[in-house]
Amino acid sequence: MGETGLDYFYQKKNLKDQIKLFYKHIYLSKKINKPLIIHSRNANKDTIKILQSEKSKGCKGILHSFNYDFKTASKFLDMGFYISISGIFTFKNSIELRSVIKKIPLNRILLETDSPYLTPFPYRGKENQPSYVYYIAKYLSNLLKIDLEELSYITSKNFFKLFNLKKNNSIFEDI
Ligand SMILES: [Zn+2]
Repeated sequence: MGETGLDYFYQKKNLKDQIKLFYKHIYLSKKINKPLIIHSRNANKDTIKILQSEKSKGCKGILHSFNYDFKTASKFLDMGFYISISGIFTFKNSIELRSVIKKIPLNRILLETDSPYLTPFPYRGKENQPSYVYYIAKYLSNLLKIDLEELSYITSKNFFKLFNLKKNNSIFEDI
């Protein structure tokens, strides 16, 4: 269900509409039992407040293109959400974000490109594309000092678990 959420950076003029629709999407997500895909920029307090008030533990979902502190990450993790990592954490200045990501449990991490935006290192400045998820995985495997294949396996497994999907592949049979 999504992408939904709150953007207080780009869209300051329609805050009331954003909040109203966010409530509706949470309600629907719970009703149809599908994960929420949440966009949240400069709006961590309200995003958490609304999710908590709507008892969103049941719906679960993704915090897409995560770029907040660890305190915020913990609150989303407590509600059962997954933290999705885009190319932002590969940017030179994202020192703080990298230290936050190091503390997120591996079984709650997902990878994304947010293509065509947020192109990861080493293609920053060029248009992003879905295949660059490889560079996000590679950067993260270096950061966490974990084998790239193992990391790919774990994040794929997280994806199939969250979306309650079965993969036509024997390596995922234990999900
Ligand atoms: Zn977004």
